[in-house]
Parts: sequence; C-alpha cells; structure tokens
Amino acid sequence: MLEMQDNIQVCVKGLKKNFGKLEVLKGIDVQIKKGEVVVLLGPSGSGKSTFLRCLNRLEEITAGKVSVDGIDITDKKVNINKVRENVGMVFQHFNLFPHMTVLDNVMLAPVELKKKTKEEAKEEGKRLLERVGMSSKAEVYPPQLSGGQKQRVAIARALAMNPDVMLFDEPTSALDPEMVGEVLQVMKQLARDGMTMIVVTHEIGFAREVASRVIFMDEGYIVEEGTPDELITNPKESRTIDFLSKVL
Ligand code: ADP
Ligand code: MG
Repeated sequence: MLEMQDNIQVCVKGLKKNFGKLEVLKGIDVQIKKGEVVVLLGPSGSGKSTFLRCLNRLEEITAGKVSVDGIDITDKKVNINKVRENVGMVFQHFNLFPHMTVLDNVMLAPVELKKKTKEEAKEEGKRLLERVGMSSKAEVYPPQLSGGQKQRVAIARALAMNPDVMLFDEPTSALDPEMVGEVLQVMKQLARDGMTMIVVTHEIGFAREVASRVIFMDEGYIVEEGTPDELITNPKESRTIDFLSKVL
C-alpha cells in the first residue's frame, strides 16, 4: 500500500525467471510511476519479452515480487483475470480474429470478460477506433487491413479493457517501414494522455521523444537506466555503448 501512496504503479523486486536450467531474468528491480513511459532496450535474447510477460503473469515467476497498482500479482489468491484486465498488452504480431470485424474484435473482451452490454461495448469500441484513427474500418475484416492498421486495431482492443498499464512488445517490428510512423503516432498520443507504458522497441527516435526513462537490459540484468539523454546520448556502460552503436 506504501507503493500506491508514492504513485508507484508497477513495482518489481528481485525478479528472477528460469526456464528449466536457463536463467533468463537474474534479479530485476524496477519501480514505475503512474504516467511514466519506459522504453526497454536490449539485444535479442536479453529477456525483454520474458520481463513483460512476467508483469501480467503470462509467465510464472521463479523468484521475487511483482505488484501492479499495489496488488501482488504473484499471490496465488489473486484473480489473474483481473490483473490481466488491468495490464494491456500489444504484441509484435497482432493476433486479431480474422473472421470478426474490426469493431467486433475490439468489443469482444469487454462483453465476454467485463460483462458489458453489447450496446455499451459498441459505443466504447467506436470511440476507441476513433482514437486510433480506424473508425472508417469498423466493419472491415482484419485480412483486409495493412499491418499498421491491424496494429492500431490491436491497440484499441487492448484499451477496451480500460487498463492502467500498457505493455508493448516490439509493436512495430513486423511492419513495413512506411507503416511504423502511424503506429508510433498512436502510441505517442496514448503517452500524452497519461497512460503508463512499458515499451520494448528498437525505435530510438520514439525513445528520445516520448520516454520518461530508458532501461537497457542485457543477459537478464538491467545494465543501465536513465533519461533518454542520459542513456541514449551519454551512455556510461560499455555494453550500452556497444548496443547503441549497432542500432543507431
Ligand atoms: P528478448 O525479448 O529480449 O529477445 P526473450 O525474453 O524472448 O528475449 O528470451 C530470453 C531468453 O529466454 C532466450 O534465451 C529465449 O530462448 C529464452 N526463452 C524465452 N521464452 C522461453 C520459453 N517459453 N521456454 C524456454 N526458453 C525461453
Ligand atoms: Mg522479445
């Protein structure tokens, strides 16, 4: 409860995650305040996706503690569906249901999980599609959309659960270059609206412009963190410098 008083929305202490003998996360400590936009950088295989998945218990953690909104999500008694409602996630691949319209994709979870009426969910769904610039495609099926459009629908779908925290795992990595901008634009607006966001991305420009904090991870540890200026412009650790020299 102390955490809530300090406006800490995500609190991670001593987080470890093993897959069998493989130690993927080796002790992560991080606290994220309400409204912060944290960009997570790191080489492939460093544990970024695993870290995000531990924040909504898509992975069971091996050791440590994760709390969201002051609730210990690793507590076996906690209702994991409630936790997941509160922590939205957007993946590299959009996972939309191809046989449902865009609007139905966005409405599905609120109707199924939040027990909203169809009418309520439809109103909210339309509003969210507007927010991501996809109103005109409400009745279209996902296979008819471009990658950037699909990802914007996926963001609207995650927002439909009215989460407090949004996790993005390389949301633009599968997109053709000309579609990256439209997705980043939606994410920037979300950040301006005050959403707490944790974003794994190699889009350094986005990190510079939008991140309140940048964390560099390597081999299951946080190597270095700071403001975009500190971490991207003036990195201190040799591993950070080496990584940035490859992506910049
Ligand atoms: P990143 O997102 O930074 O590329 P990941 O979190 O996906 O890294 O993976 C970190 C390490 O964990 C990799 O060595 C990967 O092979 C391993 N790993 C990830 N998920 C699993 C899993 N379900 N089972 C076994 N190993 C996994
Ligand atoms: Mg990954």
